[in-house]
Amino acid sequence: NSDLQLQYQLTKFGEADLLLVARDITRIVRLEHTRQDFVANASHELRTPLTVIRGYLETFLDQELPRPLQRGLEQMQQQARRMEGLVTDLLLLSRLEASQHISDEHPILIQDLIRRIHEDAEALATGRGHRFELAIDTDYDLLGQAGELQSAFSNLVFNAVRYTPDNGTITLRWQVDHKGGHFSVSDDGIGIEAMHIPRLTERFYRIDESRSSASGGTGLGLAIVKHVLVRHYAHISIDSTPGKGSTFTCHFPPDMVVPVRGVEAS
Ligand code: ADP
Repeated sequence: NSDLQLQYQLTKFGEADLLLVARDITRIVRLEHTRQDFVANASHELRTPLTVIRGYLETFLDQELPRPLQRGLEQMQQQARRMEGLVTDLLLLSRLEASQHISDEHPILIQDLIRRIHEDAEALATGRGHRFELAIDTDYDLLGQAGELQSAFSNLVFNAVRYTPDNGTITLRWQVDHKGGHFSVSDDGIGIEAMHIPRLTERFYRIDESRSSASGGTGLGLAIVKHVLVRHYAHISIDSTPGKGSTFTCHFPPDMVVPVRGVEAS
């Protein structure tokens, strides 16, 4: 059977005895693939009708309309946008799940990436009075898939904007030490109670459903971050104090970090 998937577990007893257990997980793997395919296909199929609905809503809203009708159509437009965000995130997640690790690692200019995300975050935070601080080690770059890393880092920065009351401070850091490269986002926002932290990267896990939906999230942001990091041999750590703020840090192993190429002497 060429599809056969086995999971092995090796346990050592005392000095010389070893126990090898092989478990047949073929059915579990097949079911998981079926689930992933279903989510990918369903998200893809939802895209076209949503685009049509959005198109008509825009046309209607261009006209002079009675107030209640206009308000109703605006609500529909807002919900259609939310659904589009969900479909986009579901598609991205299923693409990330399709293979375990990234295959081609190109150095990405992490400084440029952070500056671009910073600009987008300032646009999102317009009128909120947030202050952004950047602390970037300009000597090192990161190996990885630029598009995926942009999605992951943006999710963390946009969450900081959304879960920090007006006039907050948000800090973006890229630091390198002997353990590897660390990208972190700190805020002085609402914070998170310790009991929620281990579950935050689960799909659709939310602490406060009404606050999260109102702030425009899809509930998939941190699940996307986790998958992108796993694909880069990296992991996330979350440090938070309710009422004081949070720090989300992405830890990359040393072999994913490369020195920025200096200007060559002529
Ligand atoms: P959402 O779209 O709901 O923001 P995420 O997966 O991005 O989904 O985040 C999951 C939950 O984690 C959020 O609903 C929110 O409760 C909490 N959260 C994420 N980032 C922060 C933050 N910077 N400060 C406080 N809570 C946060």
